[in-house]
Amino acid sequence: MEEKITRKIYIAIGLVLCFTAIIMYKIQNTIILDASGVPKDFVEGYGDEKIGELDKTGIIETDYSKVNEDLVIEDYTDDTYWNVVLVNKMEPLSADRPITLGTLSNGKQLDKRIIDITEQMIKDAQNDGVSLIVCSGYRSYNYQQGLYNKEVNEWLSQGYSEQQAKDYASKEVAIPGTSEHQLGLAIDFITKGYTNLDQGFENTDAFKWLMENGYKYGWILRYMDGKQIYTGINYEPWHWRYLGPELAKEVKDSGLCYEEFLQRTYTFN
Ligand SMILES: [Zn+2]
Repeated sequence: MEEKITRKIYIAIGLVLCFTAIIMYKIQNTIILDASGVPKDFVEGYGDEKIGELDKTGIIETDYSKVNEDLVIEDYTDDTYWNVVLVNKMEPLSADRPITLGTLSNGKQLDKRIIDITEQMIKDAQNDGVSLIVCSGYRSYNYQQGLYNKEVNEWLSQGYSEQQAKDYASKEVAIPGTSEHQLGLAIDFITKGYTNLDQGFENTDAFKWLMENGYKYGWILRYMDGKQIYTGINYEPWHWRYLGPELAKEVKDSGLCYEEFLQRTYTFN
């Protein structure tokens, strides 16, 4: 009789330990989201717009000889070309570029002119059963500068020279002025069930929906796979750029990345 009770106690203890282990495992693997659906420890700007991979084979470098030197689009802030502006390592934005911001319902900011159409896109996706969460919209020059400096300092503290530190930092964080997020016309998307900013995003329903419908609301996939040599940026399925519905359709239909499209389609003086 006593033996049976002892056995029952052991089984009970065993079960409690099992459940505790399962709960601890779940807690450790649960990503805590804030009210807007973005992971709480998410730092905007890291892992986004990486200029190259650091690996054994070295760094992917952009061949800027392939980028037309004549392709200069002024830093237009007027109503004619505001949506067309090209931003990359060759065409940086100034620190004091003016912008009028609006705020999305989840609190993230974008150029005021694209708030309504973007909200509409998110709503329409939702009606199709797809969750689109904006985890990063507008980022200021100063914010980007802070991220960049922090990254440079980390490399310096590991004993690298200033030039090396800057080179390596620029592979992890966009150089201030070269991020489209400063335009307020770029979004990094995540989705319910996939909150990483990595290439796995391309397997989500959110990405598929964006590929089929994004252009209708003016958005294009900005850093396409296989176009790194023109964009200077790794493939980023989560990063989308607003061009307006008309231009976005043209760019999408061309199958070109934005740099290529501008070179082949327009001559700017
Ligand atoms: Zn981005």
